[in-house]
Amino acid sequence: MLTATETKTVCVFCGNENAETPIVFPSTFTAYQFLQAGNKACSRCAEMFKDPKYRRNSWIIRKGKFKTIKDVPDFLLNPPFPPFFLYLTKLKRKHGWVRAVQNPVLSTKRFILIVDEDKIMFDDKVYADLYAFARNLYARRIPKGVMLGGMPQPSAHRKYGLTWKESFRLRELQHDPLWRIIVSFWRRN
Ligand SMILES: [Zn+2]
Repeated sequence: MLTATETKTVCVFCGNENAETPIVFPSTFTAYQFLQAGNKACSRCAEMFKDPKYRRNSWIIRKGKFKTIKDVPDFLLNPPFPPFFLYLTKLKRKHGWVRAVQNPVLSTKRFILIVDEDKIMFDDKVYADLYAFARNLYARRIPKGVMLGGMPQPSAHRKYGLTWKESFRLRELQHDPLWRIIVSFWRRN
């Protein structure tokens, strides 16, 4: 079974069998664990590798069209109809886009979300619930540090008028990857 594919050149990034462009990796490249064997890429991935806009922005590619995402939390609340490729970045210097082209979004109810070089399971119902909680806290001027810091200190708990239920929920959510995404990508108005 392997012999048929061995003769084809697959793209080192996405694995498609139409790799033609030789790729030279700079010494700064460290994401080898995401690559297929080989040294050629398909034309799309060769372009993505070369152009820093794919590393420095959060983006969607749908029907072949690239678009940067300005408001990540809102985008995730109302994503467009799949299929599409989706990449989110806070660090703006990682090669997680490689994982994004390997994991197309086929359903917006549940999918693998790529954030920098991490894979996170996205569930739309869980997300909507967390989004509503974050919006409520942001509307009350609760600082990002308190929202991400787990159980609030008694002084913060009083100062920001948090209920016990909210404080315990913050403790539960401290290491929740989706929660951390919503809060850290939130744009204050
Ligand atoms: Zn490719």
